[in-house]
Amino acid sequence: MSNTLDGKVVLVTGASSGIGEATALALSQEGARVAVGARRTDRLATLAEKAPGDVLTLELDVTDQESVRAAIAATVERFGALDVLVNNAGIMLTGPILGADTAEWTRMVETNLLGSMYTVHAALPHLLASRGAVVQISSTSGRTASAGGGVYAATKFGINAFSESLRQELTANGLRVVVIEPGFVATELASHITDSMMQAAAQQMASSMRTLEPEDIAAAVCYAIAQPDHVAVNEILVRPTDQTH
Ligand code: NDP
Repeated sequence: MSNTLDGKVVLVTGASSGIGEATALALSQEGARVAVGARRTDRLATLAEKAPGDVLTLELDVTDQESVRAAIAATVERFGALDVLVNNAGIMLTGPILGADTAEWTRMVETNLLGSMYTVHAALPHLLASRGAVVQISSTSGRTASAGGGVYAATKFGINAFSESLRQELTANGLRVVVIEPGFVATELASHITDSMMQAAAQQMASSMRTLEPEDIAAAVCYAIAQPDHVAVNEILVRPTDQTH
């Protein structure tokens, strides 16, 4: 029996940990040929060893347009096409607006928003050639903002806005745009928060509920892109059952 994603070429950004890593592994298990990008290439090498299929590891910094263009080019050179971009790389440096270290705002906007837009821009000619798909890893923070999460939410609202424009511009050309909005997933994302109150709040949240696992989001990605070409799953919101807000 053939796997659902047999032969599809998928690039996953931010694949060195968490959701990106789990997604790359799940895609490989479903028969996709997977290119994985991130800055920590040692972790990508370990992932490639674990994956059952063909995996290309790429040193990638999504804030650097040259690096993004090189990663797309290397993927197409190796596999001959690009069918799906999973735009996942992101950071979450939450904290109150008053007195914030604005360097953290710059890093979030450059990584989560500009980085994801650069990657779509560079991948589009190939995705159109294959009538492929873009999977945008947004967040519940792309739907509702909360105290301490203003800038992170702004980047995710931005991703949702960009995705809807992209969909309207190119769905008639066969491009499918999928926005995935996870609630709390157990990954290292919150461990990089520098604000001690927000760090403690994230830890408290994690211990107060059955969180999602990265594999739960990987399953949503696989579901969306395994649909037939005429079915565009444009939005998936996945929260832990125990998450109220
Ligand atoms: P992780 O911290 O485990 O993964 C983040 C990934 O992004 C890492 O692989 C990291 O790799 C990569 N990354 C960060 N900066 C860059 C960069 N400049 N260039 C390339 N890659 C980069 O967190 P998650 O798996 O949780 O996060 C993945 C996505 O899911 C993010 O967009 C996040 O906002 C989103 N999300 C997560 C939720 C959660 O609760 N965990 C909830 C909703 C959305 P490296 O450092 O090696 O470059």
